[in-house]
Amino acid sequence: MSKKPRILIIYTGGTIGMIEDPKTKALRPFDFTHLIENVPKVKMLDYIIDNIQFHPPIDSSDMNPEHWTDIARSIAENYDAYDGFVVLHGTDTMAYTASALSFMLENLHKPVIITGSQLPVGEVRTDGEENLITALQIAAATDEAGRPMVREVAILFENYLWRGNRSTKRSADNFNAFKSNNYPALAKIGLGIQFDRDALAKVEEIRPLNPHYNLNPSVMAIDLFPGLREEVLTHLLATPGIKGIVLRTYGAGNGPTAKWFVDALKGAIDRGVVILNVTQCVNGSVHPTRYVAGDLLAATGVISGADITFEAAITKMMYLFGLNLSPLEVATYLRQPIAGEITLPN
Ligand code: ASP
Repeated sequence: MSKKPRILIIYTGGTIGMIEDPKTKALRPFDFTHLIENVPKVKMLDYIIDNIQFHPPIDSSDMNPEHWTDIARSIAENYDAYDGFVVLHGTDTMAYTASALSFMLENLHKPVIITGSQLPVGEVRTDGEENLITALQIAAATDEAGRPMVREVAILFENYLWRGNRSTKRSADNFNAFKSNNYPALAKIGLGIQFDRDALAKVEEIRPLNPHYNLNPSVMAIDLFPGLREEVLTHLLATPGIKGIVLRTYGAGNGPTAKWFVDALKGAIDRGVVILNVTQCVNGSVHPTRYVAGDLLAATGVISGADITFEAAITKMMYLFGLNLSPLEVATYLRQPIAGEITLPN
């Protein structure tokens, strides 16, 4: 007789487990017992399922790096006892959590599947029941050699499984709320679950999990827009204590060619601030040498983020600065994939 899969559910909150406040009618997080009672079909899966929950469960808009550490610790401390992990989470910051965990859980070789829902499990048309059941099935799935099918952090939502650090929340209304704009789906969910083995992370050598709990949130984002004033940019770049900036640029990584703009960025870089160039486009990559406007940025020392998502860029910086690396070392790791988060140009 084959042994039953052992799955640990980590319930952080989010719409999936929310109930309506009787007075205001606004949704607020509720406990795990309520959630699981609304998904009786879980019992039809012949798995051993345990759970850990956040006290209190939160709307994911309240998520912060300390919560990511709690989730990473829950996984690391229970790593050997379970075949897979399902994290129930609000959709609003799910892509940030997925990205952060992908960096924090070095040498991961078991599934960490993050899911939630657009409608609470208590509602008749909920997507929560299906998402939870499919996430559990994916966390338990193995290949013909009995190894976990998914060996990375992934987001399961409605019809797709996406790499966590490649995902972005794309809809506040649709059940298919997530997408990877620069990477294929890891699995398509229809009548069955069809894994794309070429897209899934390959783990050549199994090394012990090496969790990193320290994140440094001394990072910020600057969004370019036509008309951005010099004094505003100068003020932002001089924000006390900032170590890293994600610069959200136009198209293939372009910014204004004005001398004041280029000099302001160069000044910050010379002071040791690391600046990462991430495009505002939902799809495609930074190509720093395609236009003079991008070339100028590269010449100041702004690093190309290639096709990284904003969520992965912010959390990768927090992770790298959390390792106490020098600006030069951080820049080196930003240029290369460390958890499958970027595609390097040929
Ligand atoms: N505000 C909710 C959250 O992120 C939205 C959701 O779960 O879909 O917790």
